Amino acid sequence: MKRMIAFLSALPVIFAACFFGGCEKKVSYRSYSFFSMDTLITVKIDPSFPDCDTVFEKCREITEEVRLLYDADDPDSLLSRFNRGESDGSGLALLSLSETVSEATGGAFFPGLRDVIEGWREAEKSGVLPQKKEGARVPYKAGMRNADLGGIAKGEAEQRVVEYLKDSGVGYGVISFGGNIAVFGTKPDGKPFSVGIRDPYDTSGVICTVSLDSGYVSVSGGYERYYEIDGERYHHIIDPATYFPAEGGLDSVAVITKDADNAGALGDALATAFFVAGESAARELYASGTFDFEAVFISGGEVRSTPGTVAATD
Ligand code: AMP
Ligand code: MG
Repeated sequence: MKRMIAFLSALPVIFAACFFGGCEKKVSYRSYSFFSMDTLITVKIDPSFPDCDTVFEKCREITEEVRLLYDADDPDSLLSRFNRGESDGSGLALLSLSETVSEATGGAFFPGLRDVIEGWREAEKSGVLPQKKEGARVPYKAGMRNADLGGIAKGEAEQRVVEYLKDSGVGYGVISFGGNIAVFGTKPDGKPFSVGIRDPYDTSGVICTVSLDSGYVSVSGGYERYYEIDGERYHHIIDPATYFPAEGGLDSVAVITKDADNAGALGDALATAFFVAGESAARELYASGTFDFEAVFISGGEVRSTPGTVAATD
């Protein structure tokens, strides 16, 4: 993990959270985009692969399979059936990973906020702010209903797509799932991929880059999605202690996972958790060695990284 990220400046960049095609000048890709899981998904692969179109179609099918498991907005998803008590949750593997991450982050990652999220949506319509809660964070337990896996399911889908592409013999690729980017394989130029972290202060640009030969960069930021109530914006990452938008002190956070089990889903969940819990809690978890990850913290215009990471700023 320590080797994978190095200082890079002024290199062509793949934008996390905002994917612009054709960034790496000497390396060509075949690219395919579609909309699913409430986000734009772009799959870019080695153009010399013999049947790109079939592979692209399969990527869309895999994503749809994951959505049908975990989309709490779709009444037909397995998660919605679980929430209604019509399923015991078997087949929903992310519930157990969510429990692990929730436990490790002291409940900062808490995927049991379905009714709170619905409350914020209602508030958008009525113009009346939801009630603030006073209390402590408690970890999520896998059997709890009222689940919303929006903070982890994209990473899972992304990981399944990457695994499928690798198994199919695709030489290299870049997959963008909204705020999450995955890269794999060896490019013809032999260089690592350069993944840009979107600038939370100017979302049309990049604030820093990380160099990665393969793995996942999951970004959570308050700028990504929000509820608008009475002209004010309230971002979508909720502190389970207050049921209000998290104020963990970060403007955005990127988590880099590579060798961990469930690296895609884990990185996605940790990014959401760190946005809630803040940098020092994230660094404590890093030091504990519970999970294999690196992270880039952005606040007050500054970029800081965990020791095995160097995020390059121009
Ligand atoms: P992300 O964009 O990956 O950070 O995930 C944000 C999404 O996760 C939100 O849109 C909600 O669906 C859900 N969510 C919000 N707050 C939390 C939280 N504290 N823990 C877990 N999931 C959350
Ligand atoms: Mg997440």
